[in-house]
Amino acid sequence: MDFQPILDDIVEAIRPELGKEGRVANYIPALANVPAAQFGIALRTYVGREAAAGDFATPFSIQSISKVFALGMGMRLTGESLWEHIGREPSGSAFNSLVQLENEQGVPRNPFINAGAIALVDRLLGHLDPKAEMLALLSSLCNEPVFFDEVVAASEAATGFRNIALANFMKSFGRIENDIDGVLDAYFHHCSVRMSCQQLARAAAVLCADGAHPFHADQKVLTERQTRRINALMLTCGTYDAAGEFAYRIGLPCKSGVGGGIIAVVPDTLSLCVWSPALDHTGNSLLGMRALEMFTSMTGLSVF
Ligand code: GLN
Repeated sequence: MDFQPILDDIVEAIRPELGKEGRVANYIPALANVPAAQFGIALRTYVGREAAAGDFATPFSIQSISKVFALGMGMRLTGESLWEHIGREPSGSAFNSLVQLENEQGVPRNPFINAGAIALVDRLLGHLDPKAEMLALLSSLCNEPVFFDEVVAASEAATGFRNIALANFMKSFGRIENDIDGVLDAYFHHCSVRMSCQQLARAAAVLCADGAHPFHADQKVLTERQTRRINALMLTCGTYDAAGEFAYRIGLPCKSGVGGGIIAVVPDTLSLCVWSPALDHTGNSLLGMRALEMFTSMTGLSVF
């Protein structure tokens, strides 16, 4: 299939909608100033063919998309014991919700909500430097150096009252081992990584190739089983309270971030990244979701 004309058509169809609906995340002050009227899309097939259109080269804050790669690191390091600390069920609530944690004794529902990713970083801290490892992993997977946005990380640290509450709440249940400040510093930095659609489509290609490195096919970054499980969690938990709607309308494992990016995986075929900063009420990119729906309708590619 020639994907370039398909991505060009999607950009044409999305362009008139830019800036009309949705809102840029404004609870993180450093993200509030990002112009809403931007849209990019990029993909990479498991054999390394690429297509891209729109603002595909513009770097943005990957935010919760980093949680997928943190989970990959956690699975490699701690194996099944990870699941003694974090659940694998959809939360059915907002990404930063506190309510479930009270009823469930401080064990987060899954690794893709904020509480789950904070607990995951706590696990990683026992084994490595999560900040350095995240940059090393993402830079290797997309074959270019990537960096933290220190302004975004500082902005989240200064205003991330809910995340600070989540971490302290879990600590009160004895679920966080390390010092809260160190855990949150690593978590906020993970969220602050800046990458473009093209870089994220490349990095996510590891998930469409049974865990093989996108640029070094003979190198296994994840096992086939780990990759399958990450994709399963993305499908059921990757877009928070909209996971059902994503499965219904798009039918692909997806992971979103409040920077407006969404990665999506067609297992054994390709990985995609779309980006548009204006979000819907669930914190997912409004036009990003629409573009993914167009892509699966036009290509017939879906896991169903
Ligand atoms: N850094 C954001 C937060 O912690 C990540 C949330 C997201 O992208 N959904 O609130």
